[in-house]
Amino acid sequence: MMKKTRDTTAQEMEPVIFCDFDGTITQLDVTDQILSHLAHPSWREIEQQWMQGLIGSRECMERQVALVNAPLEELHAAIDAVAVDADFVPFCKFARKKRWPVYVLSDGFDYVIRRILKRAGVERQFRSGSTLFASALSVEGRRLTLSFPHSQEPCAHGCATCKAALITRLQEGRRPVVFVGDGMSDRFAVEVADVIFAKRQLLAHCRVNGIACHPFETFKDVQNGLERLLVPLPARRLHHAAVAVS
Ligand SMILES: [Mg+2]
Ligand SMILES: [Zn+2]
Repeated sequence: MMKKTRDTTAQEMEPVIFCDFDGTITQLDVTDQILSHLAHPSWREIEQQWMQGLIGSRECMERQVALVNAPLEELHAAIDAVAVDADFVPFCKFARKKRWPVYVLSDGFDYVIRRILKRAGVERQFRSGSTLFASALSVEGRRLTLSFPHSQEPCAHGCATCKAALITRLQEGRRPVVFVGDGMSDRFAVEVADVIFAKRQLLAHCRVNGIACHPFETFKDVQNGLERLLVPLPARRLHHAAVAVS
């Protein structure tokens, strides 16, 4: 009978995967969709201040959310119009099979994220405070308020959800950190990641700053990339040995 042994080296090769939500798991940025449909147009000025680095995402989101004035049905309609990357659910199954933990880290709203993950059928895999970390949204009538249960102490970046701090906390020793993201809210996270999959603004940010990353479009690209990159060590050694002999 084959005894399943795992040496520490092989264990270290097993990654922990952290994914941004808006624009990464979803095709569009849901937070931007909600604001553009339901908030006073001045939300864009606040966005500009954040893009320019004048304010952190925490202050940005708090001020933007205060500009929303809409009934719950309109909020739900805006959320339900946003599609999920069709390859995300197969990716979750792939990671679960490999026993690689997957976390969702987002400056966005937990209420929104849970509703979308439920629609995709993977809500049980992502629980607030254990595998999903996002800003907490409360709906009161036509108004929304935000709180930050997972980053109570504001970080030096002024993040709503400090992805860099969470990655450092959840990394489980020396396991390689894989980060998947698309936006400026991911720029501190990539500083603590070993393998980066990036698109849109995050890809541009990595290129400008000389940060090594893998461009991706969908989670199929991430899955293929991980399968290529994270060949188990023994197989790799065999491969090298074969090459050396020939
Ligand atoms: Mg994003
Ligand atoms: Zn931070």
